[in-house]
Amino acid sequence: MTSPRSTCVRSRRRAPLWAYLTALVLVPLIGVGVLTWGIVRLRTEEAASAVRAAAAVHAVAMLDAVRSSVEEEVVPALSLAVLDTTDAPGRTPAVDAADRLQAEVAFGRAQRTTDRALALLSAGSAGAAAGDRAAGHLATVREQVAAAGLGVVDAYVTYLDVIKGLMNAERAAAAAANAEEAPLATSQATRDVELVAALTQRAGQVVPLFLSAQLAGGNPVGYAALSWENAWVDYVSAYRQLDELSQSDLRVAWASGRASPTFTAVDEVLTRYAGDGVTAMPVEEALELVRAHVARSSLLADVLDVAVDDAQALAAADHRAADAGRATALALGAGLLLLSVAGAFLLGRTVSRSLGLLAGQAEQVSRGSLVDVEVDGPWEVRTVSAALGAAVASLRRIQDQARAVAHGDLSNALLDQPLPGPLGEVVHASVRQIVSSVRQREELQSALAHQATHDQLTALPNRGQALQLTSAALARGRRSGSMTGLLFLDLDGFKTVNDHHGHAVGDDVLKEVATRLGAVVRAGDTVCRLGGDEFVVLVEPVDGEGDLLELAGRLITAVGDPIAVGDHVVRVGASVGVAVSRDGSVDADVLLAEADTATYRAKRLGRGRAEVFDDVLRAQLADRAEMEAAIASALVAGEMELHYQPVVDVADGRLHGFEALVRWQRPGHGWVSPDDFVPVAEASRLVCDLDRWVLAEATRQLAAWRRALPAVPGVPEPTVAVNISGRHLADRRVVQDVADVLAASGLPPALLVLEVTETVLVDDPVAIENLAALRRLGVAVAIDDFGTGYTSIGQLRHMPVDTVKIDRSFIGSRDHGHRELVALMIRAAHTFGLTVVAEGVEEPGQLERLRREGCDQAQGFLFHRPLPAAAAAALLAGLQPATG
Ligand code: C2E
Ligand code: CA
Ligand code: CA
Repeated sequence: MTSPRSTCVRSRRRAPLWAYLTALVLVPLIGVGVLTWGIVRLRTEEAASAVRAAAAVHAVAMLDAVRSSVEEEVVPALSLAVLDTTDAPGRTPAVDAADRLQAEVAFGRAQRTTDRALALLSAGSAGAAAGDRAAGHLATVREQVAAAGLGVVDAYVTYLDVIKGLMNAERAAAAAANAEEAPLATSQATRDVELVAALTQRAGQVVPLFLSAQLAGGNPVGYAALSWENAWVDYVSAYRQLDELSQSDLRVAWASGRASPTFTAVDEVLTRYAGDGVTAMPVEEALELVRAHVARSSLLADVLDVAVDDAQALAAADHRAADAGRATALALGAGLLLLSVAGAFLLGRTVSRSLGLLAGQAEQVSRGSLVDVEVDGPWEVRTVSAALGAAVASLRRIQDQARAVAHGDLSNALLDQPLPGPLGEVVHASVRQIVSSVRQREELQSALAHQATHDQLTALPNRGQALQLTSAALARGRRSGSMTGLLFLDLDGFKTVNDHHGHAVGDDVLKEVATRLGAVVRAGDTVCRLGGDEFVVLVEPVDGEGDLLELAGRLITAVGDPIAVGDHVVRVGASVGVAVSRDGSVDADVLLAEADTATYRAKRLGRGRAEVFDDVLRAQLADRAEMEAAIASALVAGEMELHYQPVVDVADGRLHGFEALVRWQRPGHGWVSPDDFVPVAEASRLVCDLDRWVLAEATRQLAAWRRALPAVPGVPEPTVAVNISGRHLADRRVVQDVADVLAASGLPPALLVLEVTETVLVDDPVAIENLAALRRLGVAVAIDDFGTGYTSIGQLRHMPVDTVKIDRSFIGSRDHGHRELVALMIRAAHTFGLTVVAEGVEEPGQLERLRREGCDQAQGFLFHRPLPAAAAAALLAGLQPATG
């Protein structure tokens, strides 16, 4: 599983959103940049190309200007050369001088024109180099012409070379202009320039060549003739090519030029001579041709100017368009760049701000603090924010429910609200589960608490709760100085109902009694059930004993009414003891004991009545308390001793064993009867101490006798019977106590008999369990005083006992029915495999009857009174020889 921390660390290593956005924007930005740069370069290149084309065209014009002026220089130069070399017939020096002057003026004027054109050319233009070269050659040829050092043909050839160089340069410039990759219109215009320049050159060449052929005269020198013929063909071809001119104004200029007589005149002459081969031309006509030729050159120069202007204008327009295109591309690129950067920045800022906010809130939520989630921004962020917000809302509801559960606020209406989503369903289900189990637990707890403090049968407060309530009432009485009353109610005849109709009916009777008591008491009074058929009514505040007695009377009356249970109608009565505390200074258990004592007297005085705890009773209680203390110290001081009453076999009168009976030599009182102090001890846990002491002493004594008087083979060893009180038998320690004394004395368990009264066995299931455990130890159990309680003979079958001791009231009775009953008890006990002991046998007649009825053993004054240990030992020893 990935911990939130490691997730956090990992996510921190990743680049933030703005970096991704920047990268994303950078790619197209670079593209736009490159594209813009390309466009700008293209435009710049176009502009440069336009500039170069314009410059080349300009160079063509300049070179052409130079060339045409150089051509103009040729005629006067040749004229001078002719004047210097020839003596034409009919010429006079005066005419020569006039012609020379005229030629020299023309020559000088042409030179100046040429120089001006050259000067223009050499100012850094494209044809500057050609211009320089031409200027060099011109300087030489001019010098030679001026010095009359050059023949006509040489001068002419030199000039032709110069013109040829210029023409080549002109053609090269025109080609260069054409070579630029200019837009169609411009390249067409530069082509126009090239065409016009070509015609101008051809036109410029053809006349001088013709004239030079004329000069060669009848000597048809191949070179001159051929040159002029070739130049003528070239000229005519160039002339025709001008039909392809693209610029309309140029076409107009060309059409008007070539239509002019000046122009056509030259062509007519040359056409004529071209057809005839070389025919000598008269001088006048030649001069006329030269003049027409010059005029035509200027015409062509004008046409070339128009062509150049057109080309330059178009190139300039191209330049401007390229510049504008570059500027637009730059602006567009820059704009796009700026726009996308700004857009990316804004988008990045918006998105990353809202995402950052969302991330912060999400982190807080992940740490468990349920903050408000509300982030504005792009749709996706708003959607996530809304979803997170909804999740937080659900978590809050979960938190609220969990909090309500944690605070135990289970009645909170919030807990019933369902939670959204599958998680919500699960959580809600578990919350409901917790709530219901907590409720169940609370109900169980309160049920348990109720059970612990209430009697299950009647739902009335039980003994413990009665004591607590009484304590609280007494405390209130102490503070307020008011009287507190306690009524102790014991049912009369309830045991009879139980025995005759069974426990189920008994339970219904108790419930009915509880209902009736509740109906009689006042609102503030409390009815409790102490257990069995004992109830108390706590009354506070009380005005006087009279009120309590009056209430007791009403309670007795209410209980005394017949009770219908199922098919039966039964009757019970009630004896009531009343105890009062005037100032609450008494303890609850003391007050309860006082009421109990009063009830005891009410029972003694005839039942169905109420007695108030008074000074006489108080004195009795005090005596009792004093007696308890005395018994406790007597046990410690060793004032108790055991007497042993022999138990004999009825059949042959032989000693069977002893019953250990406690005796108390109380200082200042003499011998105290067990009937006087055992019941007192039985009222408290003191009786357990007494029983333990008797058990230890009796087993120790018998073990000692056994050691002193070895067993006779074939004669059963004497047993010792010890009386165990009901309270001790119900104590969980009783089994251990018996095991302890057997272990301490070393007496075989079979020689120990435990005597218990039948009431104990009927009432207490714990006592029955203990009894079974004791029997498993190997000791024998006898039911004492059988017949006085409420056990039916039939119940004997299920009792965990070995022996039945029939109470002496039956043995001593002269009542015929009792005698019959004794016989019945003996037969029944034998049927169930039990041994029968008759108690209190005082007369031989009684013994005789018992023998007839098959009673096993007997005990009574007829045989022996309880004997001190020494006497019992003597008896044992005395029997020794008789048996031996
Ligand atoms: P119990 O268990 O029924 O004991 C028999 C009582 O009957 C003894 O009285 C005994 O002296 C008396 N008795 C025996 N034979 C005759 C007779 O032929 N005629 C008459 N009238 N009485 C006879 P005791 O010793 O006074 O004991 C009285 C009761 O005290 C006993 O009745 C028993 O319930 C109780 N008790 C005596 N010793 C102990 C004891 O060590 N522990 C306990 N828990 N109770 C004891
Ligand atoms: Ca006994
Ligand atoms: Ca007895």
